[in-house]
Amino acid sequence: MSHCVSKHIAESIKQLVPYQPGKPIEELARERGLDPARIVKLASNENPLGMSPKAMAAVGRCLADGARYPDGAGFALKAALKERLSVPPECLVLGNGSNDVLELVARLVLRPGTSAVFSQYAFAVYPLVTQALGARAIVVPAKAYGHDLAAMAAAIASDTRIVFIANPNNPTGTFVPGEAMEVFLRQVPSDVLVVLDEAYTEYLEPQDRYDSLAWLARFPNLVITRTFSKAYGLASLRVGYALAHPEVAEAMNRIRQPFNVNAFALAAAEAALADDRFLAESVAVNRDGMAQLEAGLARLGVRFVPSKGNFLMCEVGDAAAVNEALLDRGVIVRPIAGYGLPTWLRVSVGLPEENERFLAALAEALGR
Ligand SMILES: *Cc1c(COP(=O)(O)O)cnc(C)c1O
Repeated sequence: MSHCVSKHIAESIKQLVPYQPGKPIEELARERGLDPARIVKLASNENPLGMSPKAMAAVGRCLADGARYPDGAGFALKAALKERLSVPPECLVLGNGSNDVLELVARLVLRPGTSAVFSQYAFAVYPLVTQALGARAIVVPAKAYGHDLAAMAAAIASDTRIVFIANPNNPTGTFVPGEAMEVFLRQVPSDVLVVLDEAYTEYLEPQDRYDSLAWLARFPNLVITRTFSKAYGLASLRVGYALAHPEVAEAMNRIRQPFNVNAFALAAAEAALADDRFLAESVAVNRDGMAQLEAGLARLGVRFVPSKGNFLMCEVGDAAAVNEALLDRGVIVRPIAGYGLPTWLRVSVGLPEENERFLAALAEALGR
């Protein structure tokens, strides 16, 4: 029997398929009687180096003040971001992870009777927030697993309020060069928001970098989102931010929770932002680990999509069965059947020994 309130819950919410997070180490250890210390988790694109020691120390210094509410305005972190990015603080919106700011921007403009455009194989949060808000999803077929920007521009309808693009994209690792993105921005009507999700931007090689911040002045409908969860290693603390036109940022700030970023996350992010060495090391470990994974997969004859992120997806046939075999061997990766990619697995780049564990387990799972 259903609850009396059930009839009042929006159909779009009842039909939501919740976000599927990577399996926690402790859960796998419990399920299969494995030693948690021997489990390798390469499932959530986390930083294999952990947190910056400076960020850790900053969190430690905050503990004694745990009874106090955090600075709801995030003054110090915004000042640090302003310094680092040369953007005015009025353009900034801090979030409980960038997921939070993605949801805030969606809530500004999406409701029943409107639509959002995003690509096939786009980050799972875009379809989720679109559906949760009762808006229509316009899913544009991917080109070589990545964004087909020309088709996306053409797909914008009169009721479209937002276009989501992750660059690089998760889970495919595909990348749109800056020039192509700029061409796209010029094609989008100025009353349609373009959310450019740069969760992995720190991992880009110098030749792939593009100055998206400079676009903010020319394209007032552009919203850039970034996170401290990946290269900065703060996934558990939950902190990210958006850069937008002051009017858009102001509206997002108006609807956010007053204390949406906690004090530990604020302090850690500020410290992480100043730790250039840790960031450089994270990027270097990723570059080497990516090369190691690519070489290992090639050796096994496993096809993969070249990735500009800190993960890559590889085609293994019956991915559900291969995933089970990997789990038996204490290796957690991410099946992506939910993205419409049932023959693929996404693996995050780990430390050299973790990558090796994955490759060895995969070789066994595939009988190669
Ligand atoms: C990981 C990821 C995020 C970041 O999520 P947080 O909420 O900041 O942890 C955002 N977008 C994409 C595409 C991601 O892969």
